[in-house]
Amino acid sequence: MARFDGRVAIVTGAASGIGKEIALRFAAEGAIPVIADLNVEAAERTAEEIRGKGGEAMAVAMNVTDEAEVDAAVAEVAKKYGKIDILVSNAGIQIVAPLIEFTYADWKKMLAIHLDGAFLTTRACLRHMYEAKYGRVIYMGSVHSKEASKLKAPYVAAKHGLLGLAKVLAKEGAEYNVSANVVCPGFVRTPLVEKQIPEQAREFGISEEEVVRNIMLKETVDGEFTTTDDVADAVLFLAAARNCVMTGQSVVVSHGWFMQ
Ligand code: NAD
Repeated sequence: MARFDGRVAIVTGAASGIGKEIALRFAAEGAIPVIADLNVEAAERTAEEIRGKGGEAMAVAMNVTDEAEVDAAVAEVAKKYGKIDILVSNAGIQIVAPLIEFTYADWKKMLAIHLDGAFLTTRACLRHMYEAKYGRVIYMGSVHSKEASKLKAPYVAAKHGLLGLAKVLAKEGAEYNVSANVVCPGFVRTPLVEKQIPEQAREFGISEEEVVRNIMLKETVDGEFTTTDDVADAVLFLAAARNCVMTGQSVVVSHGWFMQ
């Protein structure tokens, strides 16, 4: 029997990057990943890829900032499979600018996707998890849940906020066997990061190679990027926990960029 046989795992932002890898890895270990993403065509392609390998997957259109859409999509999943075992709240974007230039609209957009999205998807899933007395919730934090970087005020604020959300859910969810943890990756070369390299080069007036070497990987122990596989390993480890022995925690996977 595979580790996640029959487990239903909603992964937001799973049409690309880290979320996609997590969905593929869940499927490879017997779970039914639900690819929940703004980009429904790409979500459908990921689901097709999983079905092509003999797995089962579902794609749903979901803007994590839209209360009605989140509730409807989660209800649709629960109706189809009868339960929701795992939520990986992963959808995210990045907008970089110095604080003094940050527009209020961009600040609110960042907090809406990273924090409101985490809250809305959590609440919708808990309705089913509490009933089943089982749930594993994993938030995609970042080293920026622990550290700050210039130009990333709302991202850093939101990623720190996820730690608080996870700790509250750890306390409230325990009696229902629902655990909540945060995975905190260092830089991973996904579209989200590829976009930032030229942006930061422009902002700081340095080359793209210097952005990678002197900003992104400077504090790592070995100058290595974290990979989507590394992040998926940590997420699947937390999702497989038998009980709430590990809850309200954050796991940093960053080649030593941040040490607890
Ligand atoms: P990515 O751009 O490759 O993928 C993000 C996905 O989220 C996309 O498929 C996008 O369509 C989706 N998305 C964006 N807004 C959405 C919304 N409102 N509703 C639903 N889906 C939405 O990015 P990634 O690098 O894989 O990032 C995934 C998560 O990992 C983010 O939360 C990010 O902050 C976090 N993270 C990334 C890194 C990194 O270096 N890449 C490091 C630490 C944490």
